[in-house]
Amino acid sequence: MNKNSSNKMAMASNTSKKRETVCIFGTGDFGRALGHKMIQAGYPVVFGSRSTQTSSLIPKDAEVLSHAEAAQKAAIIIIAIQREHYNFLTPLAEILHGKVLVDVSNSLKINQYPESNAEYLAQLVPGAKVVKAFNTVSAWALQSGTLDASRQVFVCGDDMEAKQMVMDIVRALGLTPLDQGSLLAAQEIENYPLQLFPMWKFPILLSLGLITFFFFYCLIRDVIYPYVYENKDYSFFIAISIPNRICPILALILLALVYLPGILAAIIQLYRGTKYRRFPDWLDKWMLCRKQLGLVALAFASLHVLYTLVIPIRSFVRWRISSRTISKALNNETEPLNTTNAWLSDSYLALGILGFFLFVLLGITSLPSVSNNVNWREFRFVQSKLGYLTLILCTVHTLIYGGKRFLSPSSYRWYLPNAYMLSLIVPCIVLVVKFVLIFPCLDKPLTRIRQGWERNPQYSE
Ligand code: NAP
Repeated sequence: MNKNSSNKMAMASNTSKKRETVCIFGTGDFGRALGHKMIQAGYPVVFGSRSTQTSSLIPKDAEVLSHAEAAQKAAIIIIAIQREHYNFLTPLAEILHGKVLVDVSNSLKINQYPESNAEYLAQLVPGAKVVKAFNTVSAWALQSGTLDASRQVFVCGDDMEAKQMVMDIVRALGLTPLDQGSLLAAQEIENYPLQLFPMWKFPILLSLGLITFFFFYCLIRDVIYPYVYENKDYSFFIAISIPNRICPILALILLALVYLPGILAAIIQLYRGTKYRRFPDWLDKWMLCRKQLGLVALAFASLHVLYTLVIPIRSFVRWRISSRTISKALNNETEPLNTTNAWLSDSYLALGILGFFLFVLLGITSLPSVSNNVNWREFRFVQSKLGYLTLILCTVHTLIYGGKRFLSPSSYRWYLPNAYMLSLIVPCIVLVVKFVLIFPCLDKPLTRIRQGWERNPQYSE
């Protein structure tokens, strides 16, 4: 059975109770979509409009009246009108006295006005009980029924009873109300839909910074250096070789950065001897975007796999193999199999394949549809234990890639080490500190602190 039909069944079972009439001011896109959904849920709906003529767009079971007439028919009035037009409510203040006014409005810019739209509405109609709700749900999602991504409805208001009435409607529509407290929270709720990928900002900006740094780093080492010293033109490396160096570096660093804040948090908690003090803001924000960091890391790991797959068909690679074979044939040379090299190469590839497999598994389990189906312990097992295993596999994959060249003086160009060596710094720090933290002398107090024990309770804030 699909979600839509189960929603309809849930709504139908609720409709057996007599629903109270709901009034909606405004017959625009949002008012009509919400009205349509409410009628489906069994609410008698009456629209308050500047024009009382019905049109084919308005749900056919709804009445359209003047604002004053419509307001008299319901205890709850949803104001589906832009804030700029709220002035028309002032003459209606008497009729609206004691009514629950639901403010659904959004602004065009973050903190556009000194007070939130809901607080402004409360000032215009002081006798009414204003509740903020529905602003994060789109008219399109309401109409098309595709509410999976925005099932949560933030609700706030000063009158508990009014808020409860609105939350009941939210639930009846098959949505999930989230009580955000008093009307003071309205500004934040109104800003929420205006933010542009808030959790993705840090991972994306960080990735752009790292891409720029490593691009120029590899350009200097792999293109400019051979041009200056050997007069060789390797500028075509920009197309595949350099991206295929940058992608695994970013995947590894970003994956390590997913686990670094957890380690910093553990050190802070051990130092403070309590979990009841807030982490610094930057750490809180970092922890909140770990999932996004991990997904960006997975994207780079996937690109690395794709770039690696095309290596055998690259003209430069084919030329190098054939010219080496021809030169050996001309010189009548043979090359015995070097088993150590074969081991190194196969282990490096095997670790890469396993690391990527676990990387994908981590990405899949972070999707809401999957994570909703595992319990908290299973989720922690995958994200923490398997996550660290992925980090270990990818770090060792990179170490073996370096192989004998690792730290060899000949691999330095203009004193610059290979880029992959830089990529190992953060993961190695994370793994070493994590290893230290699992020693019982640190692990035991940390576990106790996380269970609520405090070393110096009088000092906690
Ligand atoms: P809309 O299509 O432009 O409709 C607004 C309605 O307001 C008009 O149809 C009109 O209804 C009424 N109106 C316009 N000027 C008026 C005035 N001077 N005096 C009194 N009423 C006036 O806008 P909408 O998209 O439905 O948005 C309505 C509200 O919902 C906005 O505050 C918006 O921020 C919020 N919202 C919209 C969405 C969405 O997806 N569209 C999502 C969340 C929240 P009548 O002609 O019937 O009077």
